[in-house]
Amino acid sequence: MKIFLNPGHGGGDPGAISQNGLKEKDITKRICDILAQKLRNVGHLVMVYQEQKSYTEVSKEENKSGADLFISVHCNSFSSSSANGVETFYYPISKNGARLAKCIQDALLKQTGLFNRGCKMRRDLHVLKATKSPAVLVETAFISNPKEEILLRDKPEIFAEGIFRGIKDYII
Ligand SMILES: [Zn+2]
Repeated sequence: MKIFLNPGHGGGDPGAISQNGLKEKDITKRICDILAQKLRNVGHLVMVYQEQKSYTEVSKEENKSGADLFISVHCNSFSSSSANGVETFYYPISKNGARLAKCIQDALLKQTGLFNRGCKMRRDLHVLKATKSPAVLVETAFISNPKEEILLRDKPEIFAEGIFRGIKDYII
């Protein structure tokens, strides 16, 4: 299977930044690189693409790639540091997108033990709307929450493992 991974943000856009200066774009890249290796090890063709100048590059690349699945990886952030948990977004009319979101959300919860914010439909996210394959956007954890920030910084492999298992469950 051809799997397109998009580490959220990149280039001049750092994404969310934690109180300690941790950048979302660096964490998402780390998670996607670990995830890509896991997927390649079991025979998938994987493309990792992070935006350089604009997020519209991502959907353009995905459209050219002929990918079977698209996964955009992000970290959540909120003004209150107590906000926490995992959530996964999909595009409203996509049945496969919804199923992929559920598989990844469930596996991530199992792997991280974090709070379940649920799978949610989002009509307004460009990377879900403009991509051709079943697409999800995963908000792994809150970079603005001190406990989750440490997890994102020190254990990116548990998020990669969660998403990896979710993809496996989706394919079966
Ligand atoms: Zn983001």
